[in-house]
Amino acid sequence: MIVGVGALGCPCADLLARAGVAKLTLIDRDLVDITNLHRQTLYTDTDARTSRPKAIAAADRLRAVNPDIDIHPVVADLNANDAEQLLEHERFGTPDILIDGADNFETRFILNDLSVKHSIPYVYAGAVGTKGMATVFLPPDSPCLRCIFPEPPPPGSQPTCETVGVFSPVSSIIASYQASEALKVLMGHEKRAMRTLLEFDLWEGQRRRIDLSGSKDPECPCCAHRRFEFLERDDEDTISICGKDAIQVNPRIRQRLDLQQILENLRVHGDFSNIGVLVKGTLRDEPYGLSVFHDGRAIIEGVSDPALARSIYDRYIGS
Ligand SMILES: [Zn+2]
Repeated sequence: MIVGVGALGCPCADLLARAGVAKLTLIDRDLVDITNLHRQTLYTDTDARTSRPKAIAAADRLRAVNPDIDIHPVVADLNANDAEQLLEHERFGTPDILIDGADNFETRFILNDLSVKHSIPYVYAGAVGTKGMATVFLPPDSPCLRCIFPEPPPPGSQPTCETVGVFSPVSSIIASYQASEALKVLMGHEKRAMRTLLEFDLWEGQRRRIDLSGSKDPECPCCAHRRFEFLERDDEDTISICGKDAIQVNPRIRQRLDLQQILENLRVHGDFSNIGVLVKGTLRDEPYGLSVFHDGRAIIEGVSDPALARSIYDRYIGS
């Protein structure tokens, strides 16, 4: 199961489909956009111009690549409400591996909960700017994501693909590592899986491996105490604003934001100003207005679809 068919999910799915992985579930909530094409290698200019759902466009491309495999595209946001339902498929059963192609930390922590709760290997990865990282978690023996990163970073504190871009070779390399780890696990060679967190900066030519063998936290809320906090959240993360073409997106963790930092990030993308308790403005390249509050809430104007609102939040504010 590949969650997110973007910069990481596209090359990874392509490699796995060509390798003959018999059943692939592709989950993505977004539409193909022209700005995706330099790194999201399954999509064409036509997909972008017709705004096709990524999961559907990716499935069509992969079926053309390998008609002998079974592909199940799902146009959805993997969130706490439906994550466990998405994990079970009438024809496919429970996946043998979870592959992280997500563009936000919330989804990664949900994936980690699913991985530990259901003992499914989880290939974690991230790529932004010129940097990438990857590892694989093998429950119940290995550490889990929360042993290493106990909580997601506060919204707006980390660069996102939208605020700093992605140097496309980074995502292709990281996705190749993901495919490599997935193939090892699927072929029964878990012992060969990487036991390190790989990090590199392709621009600077820097690379390091952090040994994770002693990182299992005996007090980890997830893998030690089996509290699946990200799956158990009441996921009222979006609320439609009555009488207005707007949606409020709530952060899943309420933390005070650095509005000056948010302002600096958003100014690159449009006309924004800090008016005390919120940063407000409109995007230049997309027809949406954003109001970001100091408690992490945001109101997205010009949108009526909650999943699209969540996507805009993750891309421009980050979570
Ligand atoms: Zn853990």
